[in-house]
Amino acid sequence: MSKLLIVGTVAFDAIETPFGKTDKILGGAATYISLSASQFGVHSGIVSVVGGDFPKSYLEKLNSKNINTDGIEIIEDGKTFFWSGKYHNDLNSRDTLITDLNVLANFNPVVPESFKDADFLMLGNLHPSVQMDVINQLPKKPKLVVLDTMNFWMDNTLKELMEVIAKIDVITINDEEARQLSGEYSLVKAAQKIYTMGPKYVVIKKGEHGALLFHEDNVFFAPALPLEEVFDPTGAGDTFAGGFIGYIAKTGDISFENMKRAVISGSNLASFCVEKFGTERMENLQQSEIQQRLLQFKQLTQFEIEIN
Ligand code: AMP
Repeated sequence: MSKLLIVGTVAFDAIETPFGKTDKILGGAATYISLSASQFGVHSGIVSVVGGDFPKSYLEKLNSKNINTDGIEIIEDGKTFFWSGKYHNDLNSRDTLITDLNVLANFNPVVPESFKDADFLMLGNLHPSVQMDVINQLPKKPKLVVLDTMNFWMDNTLKELMEVIAKIDVITINDEEARQLSGEYSLVKAAQKIYTMGPKYVVIKKGEHGALLFHEDNVFFAPALPLEEVFDPTGAGDTFAGGFIGYIAKTGDISFENMKRAVISGSNLASFCVEKFGTERMENLQQSEIQQRLLQFKQLTQFEIEIN
């Protein structure tokens, strides 16, 4: 069985959408990625940090999904990373209200011995120096290194971010972030510019408009499933990334053809994440629901046409 190492925030989130508001609930990039990847039965472990205020029951929740949390350091007298966001009426855009780095500000990650030989590495959203530190702790380069990031790190730590981007194989970012990183408006040109920074594969997430996978001159498009109701988009990007790397880790195939299936897998899982607040839907997801929805994805995109 493949080993998947996941780095990213484990957090408290407070979310406001047109449908309601939450107090501090379980969130964080690594949380969503690992819950999503756990659907593929891979052996995964998280490297992150939380404060003494982080409930043990949240860690147990992850452990019950076979997610190893030995690499989550607990700083007893510190506070957990806290993020708060408010969505606009269209649910496609949001304002970040608060980003309190707390224990993340001085975090020195330690990869557990048992994950130093990870086959796949998912560098989820957090400080790029932490992402780099984890790469440097692995004696052998994993088969595939995927990185996700966001505008917060482009605004505050661009130099460190560029250094880590130079070392990875696949980057997943949203359309606005791709434009910010590349300085190009066209997403095709943005992807080409990003290749020159290091990654051979560029995945651009477009929220309810799906995702694009770029590699050399090839482009593949995965739609998002049109849903009757979207409740809370928080974590959809991370869930997408977890579905992408989880599928690749399960199949062990890093070809472009397989990455197309991985992008569909990511879109499929993200479509569940948005149906309830926070991690709730991902915690209670059944394999039969996932398979059923994959069928809907096939039907959504399949057509016959004669080309003369
Ligand atoms: P997404 O909706 O996929 O972009 O991810 C939302 C998750 O990202 C939330 O659970 C937050 O805790 C986490 N998050 C928000 N801001 C940051 C940041 N600057 N670095 C790392 N994680 C973050």
